[in-house]
Amino acid sequence: MTGLVVIGASYAGIQGALAARDAGYSETITVVADETWLPYQRPPLSKDFLAGAATEESLVLRDRAFFANKGIDLVVGVRAVDIDRRARKVGLAGHPELNFDKLLIGTGSRARRLALPGADLSGVLYLRTLQDAIDLRASLLDAAEIVIVGGGFIGLEVAASACKLGKKVTVLESAPRLLERAVSPTVSEFLLDVHLQHGVDIHLGETIVSIEGENGLVAAVQCGNGTKIRADLVLVGVGGLPNDQIARDTGLSCTNGITVDDHGRTSDPNIFAAGDCATHYNSFAQDWIRLESVQNAQDQAKAAGLAIAGSTGPYASVPRFWSDQYDAKLQIVGISRNFDDQALRGSIDDGQFSIFYYRQGKLIAVDSINRPGEQLAARRLIAGGISPTPDQVTDLSFDLKSLPKPANAARV
Ligand SMILES: Cc1cc2nc3c(=O)[nH]c(=O)nc-3n(C[C@H](O)[C@H](O)[C@H](O)COP(=O)(O)OP(=O)(O)OC[C@H]3O[C@@H](n4cnc5c(N)ncnc54)[C@H](O)[C@@H]3O)c2cc1C
Repeated sequence: MTGLVVIGASYAGIQGALAARDAGYSETITVVADETWLPYQRPPLSKDFLAGAATEESLVLRDRAFFANKGIDLVVGVRAVDIDRRARKVGLAGHPELNFDKLLIGTGSRARRLALPGADLSGVLYLRTLQDAIDLRASLLDAAEIVIVGGGFIGLEVAASACKLGKKVTVLESAPRLLERAVSPTVSEFLLDVHLQHGVDIHLGETIVSIEGENGLVAAVQCGNGTKIRADLVLVGVGGLPNDQIARDTGLSCTNGITVDDHGRTSDPNIFAAGDCATHYNSFAQDWIRLESVQNAQDQAKAAGLAIAGSTGPYASVPRFWSDQYDAKLQIVGISRNFDDQALRGSIDDGQFSIFYYRQGKLIAVDSINRPGEQLAARRLIAGGISPTPDQVTDLSFDLKSLPKPANAARV
């Protein structure tokens, strides 16, 4: 057995490898990635990259010299196909297998595909990888009418970027409001208004039954209510699925992702997993969840890397997420699921506000629009289990930072 093998070279894979190395792991570290690019930032794909304000070069997370410096062997364009736990080997497509002493799986997630007539027509696109973004950007140049299926983060960010490029955009969302699983009705309502103001046509509670084509190219989307919407391009953003097949095949425990503890350890003590592909018990959610965010991928992988190096530092960070749509910067800290009270700080009309969410009197999450300072304060409050009263929250003269400093706080 020898060294650490990491599958996937994105936020989780890289952070795990680095954390192990920086914590003194002295064996070989090999990171294998099926994508051919150098590791890159994924969030800008739907934002600056699509709108033309970022390039492939500017997205690079770490260059080859960085990995060489750290003594990490980066192998791109190679897919890991199986794991032999008994022999501790990872099989690679078209390459010799790799032995491992420890293994970190950071295989991320993939876009959920539409299964309905016309879904495989040319011009029906998804956005997950840099290659997807390059293809989408090229297709957008020639398209005038864009239909986006799904009013989640990716759909709405693409809508904003396409709008900036002067396209006619329609968003079809089956739920009664935008971002239903991620934000409260107040924030959904605010973002709906922002998109409407920019001229995006949004249909809520809308199902689609088929996509129609002409000469193999997408031409229209047929909705469940009988409406037909013309489209030169259909972008599907209906959620992600964990890339956990390789873990399932080798018998690791998986439920909506690879099950890990707070050190990123799977049901096999020598195998770790982190990021979008992993599911963990989250003390802030008080539930088993699989998060799809940069913060989760990096912090969870850091905990895994430390454990691989024989050090400790359990994953206990407060969940965080952000999304940029036009001039609205949404930041989320904590998990607002099942909140029973909320308090508004700032002004919705001015587009600068935060909503503080409570469950049984305890602050559990804060969504902010264009209020980065409040997000910082909120992180400390939630990590420290400190709950300002709703009256303190609504009183703009009350300094949220004046509340007692967190004792035994989680890492923020
Ligand atoms: C368009 C877009 C916008 C986003 N915007 C935001 C945002 O604003 N804020 C935010 O917090 N998050 C955002 N996210 C989510 C964020 O990018 C992910 O949560 C994050 O990338 C997860 O990192 P990861 O390392 O777990 O997985 P991934 O980034 O998915 O990387 C996994 C890598 O492993 C590779 N891989 C998979 N299987 C194998 C195999 N068998 N062998 C070799 N390699 C393999 C994959 O090809 C991929 O390169 C966005 C995601 C997308 C797609």
